[in-house]
Amino acid sequence: MSVSVDYEKELLNILVENGIRKKDVQNLFLEFLSEDKMKYFGIEDNDIRNLSIIKSMLGDDKILCKSDQDILEDSTIKDFILAFLQTMCDFNTQNYAKLIIKAINLGIYLFSKHIDLSVFYKSQNMLNSGIIRVLRDELASDIFELVGSLVKFSNFSLGVVSLAYYETLLLKEINRVHKEALIDPLSGLYNRLKFEELKSIEFSRTKRYKTPLSVCLMDIDNFKKINDNYGHFIGDEVIRNIGALLKVTTRKSDICIRWGGEEFLVLFTHTTIDEAFVACEKIRCNIENLKVLDGLKFTISLGLSEVLEIDNSLEDAIARADKSLYLAKAKGKNRTEV
Ligand code: GH3
Ligand code: MG
Ligand code: MG
Repeated sequence: MSVSVDYEKELLNILVENGIRKKDVQNLFLEFLSEDKMKYFGIEDNDIRNLSIIKSMLGDDKILCKSDQDILEDSTIKDFILAFLQTMCDFNTQNYAKLIIKAINLGIYLFSKHIDLSVFYKSQNMLNSGIIRVLRDELASDIFELVGSLVKFSNFSLGVVSLAYYETLLLKEINRVHKEALIDPLSGLYNRLKFEELKSIEFSRTKRYKTPLSVCLMDIDNFKKINDNYGHFIGDEVIRNIGALLKVTTRKSDICIRWGGEEFLVLFTHTTIDEAFVACEKIRCNIENLKVLDGLKFTISLGLSEVLEIDNSLEDAIARADKSLYLAKAKGKNRTEV
């Protein structure tokens, strides 16, 4: 059984459109289009013949009585199951790929519409019992064999639909956890992990497009004293306040990171060192005027540098910012040094 490339493409499009980009997840779905999957699901020629008999015995309208129709709340599910059965009856290689894609689409549809998978189970059961009732009324001689094939068919479609449903759920969860892992919970700013993720991207961007990139290291002045005099809880509150202030004082394109305990790093993208100096002084003055809780005031020192032609990594510029910060401390703190 060879699978047409078009279906692979179609499947990949569906996955990408729904944000399912992780390679392993994609491969899992692509596997469904592989040659021996039909055997894996235990559906044989015999079952396909049986499903054709079921289909030929029934007009679509006879499958369900009126009361069952009401229970099938979502018409997309009903249409899906009927279409799935139809394609199964005319089974061939092309249809097999179509089945899989239909099932994956439905799984993603259910998830995106916040429809619980149990609604799908319920609808499928109603449809199956409707079919079985009609089979009995028609006095099919080999009803057990027909029902056996029907159950296999149900399990097959359910397997693919629920996989698509849970993969979408899982991927959303993975993305959420990944995003959370890059945020420092105290300051609400990015953490070092995020820095590791973006440092080479930002560095190569500034090199390739020759756009300026300035780097600022900030350190709270006499923070040990704040902790000693007011306690760690107040110390934490100071860090929380700096995080909030950095977020509103910097541009969207700037990247604010909690670098260490009471140190912060800001990457001013597309910004020359002169422009960044103005931004740093604004931050410094805003912090100088900030009052935490019962009016506690504090200051910060800042060391600024710019990525240069000779730099081999972002760390080279950060090392210069660190030297500037040291100078700012030595010159009496609460100041920006370049
Ligand atoms: P300087 O002006 O030279 O920077 O002096 P400093 O006291 O700020 O610097 P030092 O490096 O001596 O002390 C930093 C203190 O920051 C020590 C550490 O206990 C405190 N610290 C680091 N992380 C946290 C935190 O998350 N919460 C609190 N409350 N304190 C922290
Ligand atoms: Mg420090
Ligand atoms: Mg300090």
